[in-house]
Amino acid sequence: MSPRLRTLDRLGNVAGVRVFVRLDLNVPLADGAVADDSRIRAAIPTLRELRELGAALVVASHLGRPKGTARDDLRLRPVGERLGELLGEPVTALADVTPVELPDDPVVLLENLRFDPGEERDDPAFAGRLAELADAYVDDAFGAVHRAHASVSALPELMLASGRAAVAGRLVQREVDVLGRLLRDADRPYVAILGGAKVSDKLPVIDALVDRVDALLIGGAMAFTLLAASGGAIGDSLVEPDRFDDVRASGERARTRGVAIELPIDVVAAAAAEDAEARTVPAGAIPAGLKGLDIGPATVARFGEVIAGAKTVLWNGPMGVFEHPPFDAGTRGVALAVAAAPAFTVVGGGDSLAAVRAAGLEGSFDHLSTGGGASLEFLEGRALPGITILEE
Ligand code: ADP
Ligand code: MG
Repeated sequence: MSPRLRTLDRLGNVAGVRVFVRLDLNVPLADGAVADDSRIRAAIPTLRELRELGAALVVASHLGRPKGTARDDLRLRPVGERLGELLGEPVTALADVTPVELPDDPVVLLENLRFDPGEERDDPAFAGRLAELADAYVDDAFGAVHRAHASVSALPELMLASGRAAVAGRLVQREVDVLGRLLRDADRPYVAILGGAKVSDKLPVIDALVDRVDALLIGGAMAFTLLAASGGAIGDSLVEPDRFDDVRASGERARTRGVAIELPIDVVAAAAAEDAEARTVPAGAIPAGLKGLDIGPATVARFGEVIAGAKTVLWNGPMGVFEHPPFDAGTRGVALAVAAAPAFTVVGGGDSLAAVRAAGLEGSFDHLSTGGGASLEFLEGRALPGITILEE
């Protein structure tokens, strides 16, 4: 059994109380406006629940990588505007990260936490200034729980040390629930599909999954490192030769555990992603001069069969360069197969979620995990600083 997470149910009476809410509002901006508001939407249930309980809110988030100094293009004001629209009440965006005095407004948004160098350093003095702003703490920033930063680590520690509540919001609660189930007691057969650019990003999660799943389906550029390590001809596809030994070791572990690792059978290849002149070739026999940019139709069909027989499906990482049609077909095919599967289905990863949304399928999965790196680290079975502090 894993330790229990303290949730909003453990917050006590917060009527008239100022609650600090750490959110992950790290959204893409374009021309100074919010380009994708999914993360803001994901934060609304917790904010609404707290408002209905009568709490006043101090909302805080990071945005981008300003590295400890203020940057006008990374101010949270446009995010605050969108947040206010979605919440249905005004959000007062402040120009300071740690204002000396808070306005009386019921929902205030602090300036980008990473404008202060103390945030990424987990600086207790910075956390102390944040702690002065509220009487209780809620962390609903799942995308940030794997980082020992002040607003998710030192701050809840200080709150607890001074007898104030520090609990998880509904989004973090749901992520820990769902991902915890994938980690500990997923229904079998349990199938994981991994893709994306770099195998080196995902080696630890491959190894953790080999201990848990029945089958591992691998697409995306990372498949080429596995194909090349076993002697396949991969043409000019992306490859990480310094990882050959690691992926061979993972393959060996999978074999001893009876876990099937399935690699692409065919791939869609071209000289470059911008080149629409694509052809389908066998995955282990890609001609020199061509890059494998997507899984081919035979692979989509094979992966689809395995997915259809699963009771649990975890998917992370696109199957190809889905940003450039026609290399989006493999990712869309897998998205459709997962969406149609009778299994409990979970998708994670920023690019994977973008692909799911582009296909209009976001309503067809049981859970869309909002934390990219955080979800992967959780699935590796690692203790995450922002979660540990919220456990009993
Ligand atoms: P996620 O954000 O879902 O975790 P990643 O960031 O790991 O996914 O990987 C997404 C990136 O992988 C995309 O930009 C996509 O273009 C790239 N990618 C997938 N397949 C290939 C491939 N065959 N060749 C080059 N890049 C690829
Ligand atoms: Mg990504």
